[in-house]
Amino acid sequence: MSSHSKAPVVPSNPFIEQEFGSVEGLLEFCHRLPKLELHAHVNGSIPPEALRQLAEKRASETVDKGEAAKGALSVLDAIAWKSEFDIKDFFPLFKHIYGLTNDPESLTFVMHSVITDFENDGVRYIELRSTPRDDPSTGLTKESYIQSLLSAISTSPAKNISVKLIVSIDRRHTPEVAQHIVDLAIKYRDQGVVGIDLCGDPYAGDFDAGPKDAIVRAKAAGLKVTLHLAEIQNRDEENRSMLSVFPDRLGHATYMSDDVRDKVYKDGIPIEMCMTSNVLSRTVESYEVHHIKQALEENHPSVLCTDDKGIISSPLSYEYALAASTFSMTKRLLYDLSRRSINAIFADDIEKARLADLWQAWADREFSRATNS
Ligand SMILES: [Zn+2]
Repeated sequence: MSSHSKAPVVPSNPFIEQEFGSVEGLLEFCHRLPKLELHAHVNGSIPPEALRQLAEKRASETVDKGEAAKGALSVLDAIAWKSEFDIKDFFPLFKHIYGLTNDPESLTFVMHSVITDFENDGVRYIELRSTPRDDPSTGLTKESYIQSLLSAISTSPAKNISVKLIVSIDRRHTPEVAQHIVDLAIKYRDQGVVGIDLCGDPYAGDFDAGPKDAIVRAKAAGLKVTLHLAEIQNRDEENRSMLSVFPDRLGHATYMSDDVRDKVYKDGIPIEMCMTSNVLSRTVESYEVHHIKQALEENHPSVLCTDDKGIISSPLSYEYALAASTFSMTKRLLYDLSRRSINAIFADDIEKARLADLWQAWADREFSRATNS
């Protein structure tokens, strides 16, 4: 990666020095802490090295090597980040990545890299999400897309992480496509699909005229639902309509009017909070004013998540470090935030109990060691 692409730096302050010794101590703790990731898009989470490998392989296989290499290069240039970008630049970027992840073999390679990358960061449970695509040039269909991701999950070499799949509907999809995706999610629910997501360019699409009916049907069929909600301002009508389908979680929920926020808080709908993603894409002005602040103060269920760590170079451990640094969170508070996220997962109660035991065992070791030393 080029020199202007770098993970953001957590600034030190007196609180960090007192609680963690140093920023390095904070990062080490956050890496060690068992974590859950509930808002990560597969194509946005590909480690840059893996994307480069895929691009180089693709370039060497294609007959017209010049064109393929150029396309691959544009992907890598596009993610060789400048320090911030606008949310309007963000969605076109994915076209480049989609051009590389358009057959079962590439999807398997990418999934394995993504899962291992999260495992190496101390993530013990993850719900990855992705929008199934057709690609006539490779014969990929929405169904074979989902099959590829699920088979990659079952063949992943990572053994310390439990992986589930959320199938995404894009805001631009027609009602028919949305219904088809719900059919597929229902068909594959016994093989690792736990829910439906609504995502995509928040400036595009119309919830009521597009995916709403399909999402209502998904809920009725017993699938869990998460919706990217209120990423941009002045969408109150749509936000109310989204809440009317009883989503189980919300992504971002940045710009909620008072009545919408009241309902979300009263119903206790967990919010997937992506601090770095929001600040870099400039939907939130700064970490200090991020809406997780109010959620933490009011004890509203909040889950720290990365969104697109392959693009924004911010692992989940960094999101925890950032929260600690910005809101003066102790080790115990960070642990509690992670542990409470178990309640928000889409998997069943058996998995929740298994994770709760895992977290408890970690806390017993960690905090008794701290008291004894
Ligand atoms: Zn997202």
